[in-house]
Amino acid sequence: MKVLVINCGSSSLKYQLFNMADESVLAKGLVERIGIEGSVLKHQPGEAEKVTIETEIPDHSVAIKLVLNALVDAKHGVIKDMNEISAVGHRVVHGAEKFATSVRINDAVMDALEECIEMAPLHNPPNILGIKACEKLMPGVAQVGVFDTAFHQTMPKHAFIYGLPYEVYKKHGIRRYGFHGTSHKFVSQQCAEMMGQKPEDIKVITCHLGNGSSVAAVKNGAVVDTSMGLTPLEGLVMGTRCGDIDPAILPMLMKKENMDADAIDSYINKESGVLGISGVSSDFRDIEGAADEGNERAKLALDVFAYRVQKYVGAYAAAMNGVDAIVFTAGLGENSISMRESIAEAFGYLGAKIDKERNNVRGKACEISTADSKVKLFVIPTNEELMIARDTKSICLG
Ligand code: AMP
Repeated sequence: MKVLVINCGSSSLKYQLFNMADESVLAKGLVERIGIEGSVLKHQPGEAEKVTIETEIPDHSVAIKLVLNALVDAKHGVIKDMNEISAVGHRVVHGAEKFATSVRINDAVMDALEECIEMAPLHNPPNILGIKACEKLMPGVAQVGVFDTAFHQTMPKHAFIYGLPYEVYKKHGIRRYGFHGTSHKFVSQQCAEMMGQKPEDIKVITCHLGNGSSVAAVKNGAVVDTSMGLTPLEGLVMGTRCGDIDPAILPMLMKKENMDADAIDSYINKESGVLGISGVSSDFRDIEGAADEGNERAKLALDVFAYRVQKYVGAYAAAMNGVDAIVFTAGLGENSISMRESIAEAFGYLGAKIDKERNNVRGKACEISTADSKVKLFVIPTNEELMIARDTKSICLG
């Protein structure tokens, strides 16, 4: 069975074609600048050389048509006929309370997806465009929606209700939803496998540390709490997002700096986080470099970041009444040896000990705790595309 995974952004589209027999990637690629001058398709057929096609790509439908053409192309294609694709798995950012699992798309699902737009006005519309384009170009091929929020839907009410009048939950759906769910699901399952356990038998804290970052408490295979909230702004300090702050700061800043709602929204989403603290960059490699050269604010940004992760891990160990394993994943979690070390140095009270030699690793799944560590520490590269492909396959095969 071959499954195409599509991740549509507002002006970009990422794709991977999987052969589910061995979960290998037959081809992958990226369409950039959709609807903008200079649009381009970068197609990587298996191990062969990357192909770059520069052409006008006015909308997502044209982008997907180009991708399908590339996949069946006589020279750089990887399949003979489009009919070889049995199903398409689409990443959808927000499923609100409507979708607790991945789902096969039909008319009723499309209506529900439209209703979720108000929760993620920037992200869900391009996701929907991608689904519609595939339905048109690949009639009869199963389309499956896989939601960033779905894995977190098991959270108990006491973890997802905010300290606001209850009516805002009922009236506007304002509650914690959580994001990066596909990643937290993938690495928590992988962690159980690496421990030789079933997900239902262990308590795992998964730390997805990238440009956007979140932590999840996964007890017996189900999320009981996570750090992102109604939107992906809450929780950890991120590349450019502020994470948790005293909400009173917002009206105060709006008055003092003469900002309206859009301006403050942009300030806390795009100008804050480790970029705002360090004044250097939102990229952790740049910040680590600057800190090494003695930049105090860069060092402070790294300390603030690590401390917030430590606090969440402590809170989630308490929420689950213990923890068996802590997982680091995503760009920073998979690659930053020093960040993992500075976060894990606060885990002594949990009985978790990092092994500095084992921790000397980038982008490879492995245990990084000492042999006598009571709580296991792991690096596990995330693979959201594979998780989407797996969900798509299992939904299609029933
Ligand atoms: P992601 O959003 O998962 O793609 O992660 C992006 C973040 O990972 C960026 O801030 C990068 O700086 C960070 N990152 C990637 N590689 C490294 C590395 N070798 N050392 C430190 N940070 C890294």
